[in-house]
Amino acid sequence: MQNKQLNISYQVYQSKDELPAEWKSLLQKAIDATGRAYAPYSNFRVGAAILLDNGEVVCGSNQENAAYPSGLCAERSACYYAGATYPGARMLAIAVAACQDDRLTETPTYPCGACRQALVEYEELGGAPMTVIVGSAGRVEVFASVKDLLPFYFDNLEG
Ligand SMILES: [Zn+2]
Repeated sequence: MQNKQLNISYQVYQSKDELPAEWKSLLQKAIDATGRAYAPYSNFRVGAAILLDNGEVVCGSNQENAAYPSGLCAERSACYYAGATYPGARMLAIAVAACQDDRLTETPTYPCGACRQALVEYEELGGAPMTVIVGSAGRVEVFASVKDLLPFYFDNLEG
């Protein structure tokens, strides 16, 4: 038997104003996308913005449905939209932000497990890490790879 340990490192900025300009702009697009969420049931509006290697930025927002499981998170609506619109483009970075009662959350809102799984597959397809920028009204956290958020992801691409 062996004991193993995982360590991740990530960056914490005290506010979005401290971010490098490119990430600050991407996070602002995610914040803007919260305004396009359809979230009449949770009133929790999430926005995501993905920077592609062709220079395009693709945004998504959570889209709820009266049949709850039929809704979709912002992160997956963004990456599926990106995959459907620009197949083969590498996803360089994703920014995520959320609003509760029309105010940015005070702490970062992380992608859910299902979104992490979807994003890590696009990261694998791209062959390079996808930066994850998780914003809030306060601090912003930056992870160098989706795998930092989901180290034991499901992967059936190998073989
Ligand atoms: Zn999700």
